[in-house]
Amino acid sequence: MSQIVVTLPDGSELEVEAGSSVEDVAYEIGPGLGSDTIAGIVDGELTAKSEPLFEDCELIIVTEQSEEYLRVLRHSAAHVFAQALQRLHPEAKLAIGPPTDEGFYYDVTGVDLEADDLEAIESEMEAIIEADYPIERVERSREEALEIYDENEYKREILETEAAGEETVTFYTQDDWQDLCRGPHVDSTGEIGAVKLLNIAAAYWRGDEDNDTLTRVYGTAFESEADLERFLEQREEARKRDHRKLGRELDLFSIPDVTGPGLPLYHPNGKAILRELEMFVDALNDAQDYDFVETPHLFRTELWKQSGHYDNYVDDMFLLDVNDEEYGLKPMNCPGHATIFNQGNWSYRDLPVRYAENGKVYRKEQRGELSGLSRVWAFTIDDGHLFVKPESIEREVNVVMDQINEVLDTFDLDYDVAFATRPEKSVGSDEIWEQAESQLRDVLEASGMDYDVEAGDGAFYGPKIDFAFRDALGRNWDGPTVQLDFNMPERFDLSYTGEDNEEHQPVMIHRALYGSYERFFMVLIEHFDGKFPTWLAPEQVRILPVSDDNIGYAKQLKNRYLGEFRVEIEDRSWTVGKKIQTAHDDRVPYMLVVGDNEEEAGTVSVRDRFEREAKDIDVGTFKTHLEGEVEEKRIEPDFVDE
Ligand SMILES: [Zn+2]
Ligand SMILES: [Zn+2]
Repeated sequence: MSQIVVTLPDGSELEVEAGSSVEDVAYEIGPGLGSDTIAGIVDGELTAKSEPLFEDCELIIVTEQSEEYLRVLRHSAAHVFAQALQRLHPEAKLAIGPPTDEGFYYDVTGVDLEADDLEAIESEMEAIIEADYPIERVERSREEALEIYDENEYKREILETEAAGEETVTFYTQDDWQDLCRGPHVDSTGEIGAVKLLNIAAAYWRGDEDNDTLTRVYGTAFESEADLERFLEQREEARKRDHRKLGRELDLFSIPDVTGPGLPLYHPNGKAILRELEMFVDALNDAQDYDFVETPHLFRTELWKQSGHYDNYVDDMFLLDVNDEEYGLKPMNCPGHATIFNQGNWSYRDLPVRYAENGKVYRKEQRGELSGLSRVWAFTIDDGHLFVKPESIEREVNVVMDQINEVLDTFDLDYDVAFATRPEKSVGSDEIWEQAESQLRDVLEASGMDYDVEAGDGAFYGPKIDFAFRDALGRNWDGPTVQLDFNMPERFDLSYTGEDNEEHQPVMIHRALYGSYERFFMVLIEHFDGKFPTWLAPEQVRILPVSDDNIGYAKQLKNRYLGEFRVEIEDRSWTVGKKIQTAHDDRVPYMLVVGDNEEEAGTVSVRDRFEREAKDIDVGTFKTHLEGEVEEKRIEPDFVDE
């Protein structure tokens, strides 16, 4: 028998016989690990523990302690769901049922399912878990599998595409039930601690709108009831804070059918927040000598061919035919900025050149993938492109990191940082990659930030640093990014004259401080639960006249004293109690209650959204405080101290 070399996560190498299974290798490492093995990750891919290894590979052993264990458990729960479904509805036809970040789903058809049906299926799942059936891997010939799925066109399609060249395929069985599956799975159904079916949605087969519509049942599974409880509580909180719900309640934005999918409309309240966000980054860019540029929403496809988008990105682009000439809505702002740079003659003394634009871009996502502001067709990037000498990458990236830090501090957001290095396929010389990576690494080291190295995860055109926001519910969202690019300068033949009088190619840095406004706005809405810091709040102050008689005084306050702020007067003839409640529901940071006493004394009673109150306050005192709070972008209203 020939030998293969298995590389373990600590870098050590183990020589084993070709054909050894993942589990065999684990036993080779140690008997304890062998018996704990649930699955393996072979060259990055989750694999059954019984899978034989025939080639040199990298192997991670998955045990109950591994992060991947939960995925294995959840995929097993998807099987349990499918078995339960078919016990109750034998006519149900199964398509695919993968694990997800939050649980699993199974796409099914041939059965009319409603939300009410889930409870019975869930009980059946619990019975299957209770019975603790062993889950076993069985190999069958592809021919046999095709016969088994005689009447299931979806499984047949899998057998005829993904498994086309294979003689045998694997099934996983539990009790009298089986499913075509590569695995891996836990050893028996009893290992699943807790399951819950969450909801039903429609989904296209393979996510393609031209295909059949299937019924997708979402569920989740955990090792214990306690873990499930925690998840459900968090999910309930997330539902309350859902930016689509708050967006409607606070009248921030809408995405109506009539205007098209994934094309958000910002209402005055939403745009008030966006304008503050724009002014904030514009000021940060101004302070770092950025030049502001503006580019249109569409270009000739000639440009997209030059930039490479046409070759690599055309499926995600909106193309238009104009007088027999093809144009494309811009999916990115960089080609426009590179072209502006290219109109000039540059010497080393002029560099770096820094362009900024709040640029709208358009990307054609599958309609089924669109969701609120998190996945859209049209969005705006707080984009910036720097054209720099290779030797000044470090300096420039440092400045960008300072800007990003300022953004992170201002919004009090938690985040993760990842440093993504050269992938297998890449453009640019070894020398320039080494130089660029070491400069980025130096910046990160000097910053003192914790960061993960994602080896080989860089863009093909250069290494990058990506930030992911962690929102109040612990979910991660793409945020700021700093990307080096050696490709676009080449494609656009960008150059500057060096000190040596020779032509040199600048490095391009793509960077965004928020990422996209849409994503960032979504994160803010959910992070703050709609209770925006005063500087962002669409309505910063609401004046509540105690009776209609005090409306005149309210108007005076608004116009004479608070003209620079976003102030509204509640002039509906309601009780003060109802006025206060409504202002709370609308999450207004400050309420000024004004009755006859206040009017006579020329004062206000200040309430904040924490229900704290300060009476008989001089208007000037309140105004001065408000100016400071807004200027310093403080997170919470803090006029009234406890
Ligand atoms: Zn499976
Ligand atoms: Zn760019």
